[in-house]
Amino acid sequence: MKKLVIGIDIGGTRTKIGLVDLETGEVVETIIFPTEIHNARRFEQGIGDAIHDLKLKADEMNVRISGVGIGVSSFVFEDGTVDSTYGFMEFMEDYPLAKIIEKQHNLSCRIDNDARLVALGEALYGERRGFDRVLVLTLGTGLGIGFVVKQQLDGKLPYGHMGGHMTITTNDFPCYCGKTGCLESLVSASGIIEAAKRGSWEEKNRELPFNVESIFKSAEAGNTLSVRIMDDFVSHLKTGIGNYINLYAPDKIILGGGVAKGLKPYLPRLQEDLLLGPFKRYEIQIGLSKLEEQAGIFGSAAQFK
Ligand SMILES: [Zn+2]
Repeated sequence: MKKLVIGIDIGGTRTKIGLVDLETGEVVETIIFPTEIHNARRFEQGIGDAIHDLKLKADEMNVRISGVGIGVSSFVFEDGTVDSTYGFMEFMEDYPLAKIIEKQHNLSCRIDNDARLVALGEALYGERRGFDRVLVLTLGTGLGIGFVVKQQLDGKLPYGHMGGHMTITTNDFPCYCGKTGCLESLVSASGIIEAAKRGSWEEKNRELPFNVESIFKSAEAGNTLSVRIMDDFVSHLKTGIGNYINLYAPDKIILGGGVAKGLKPYLPRLQEDLLLGPFKRYEIQIGLSKLEEQAGIFGSAAQFK
């Protein structure tokens, strides 16, 4: 009997759940609802209802569900316990999410960090054209990083994933992790808005609307402050990417997440001078995510590949 996997991407605002066919690379059914961040019981109920609906759908299709894969914005221990979400989801502190799902639904459950799984989804189902080392930066409210090498495309990822807190500048940009000048605090949506607020405050009469899309638009229209914000953004992102290149030598970099959607005009600048030290034949391509919001669903499910 054909087997499908449930892939769950628990996002900052929305939870996206898909019934995934890992063989054909298809999401056959999707359920999206607002993420419950306050109450554990309501959170479990919401996920449980969606799993229940997808089980019915699977019965209808005469297929079996072989497991539930989940991506969450946190460190996750090997037994599927979520360490913490920096207070973003109050109840997710040392929270045995995999055990809860397994007990409630009698299905095997695997959990990992969402950005790492997005990278797995992109490497397996977004870019299948023979890249060996794929680095994925998810630029949303924060910054998530994942790196996948060809040998790991069986769905198992190496441990360790806090690359977003790499120090990029000694400037006074506070990050929620407690340090200043982290890549995450500079190239995320929050970073762009913070830069806009500072800029407007310094240049009193140049008030900018504080949302990322309008800053992208006004930069394209030539607004001096927005152009400066985007110049800084591109320069910080290039510094971060340059550090990753020295560490991992990726041959493909994919930019995903809400912020990446506005980065198309900056791709040629981001692609410029991406070099790996003295190795003259190093080649790298940088591009935007093709899977967009489905990357997390695919990656979560791919834990069962
Ligand atoms: Zn940080």
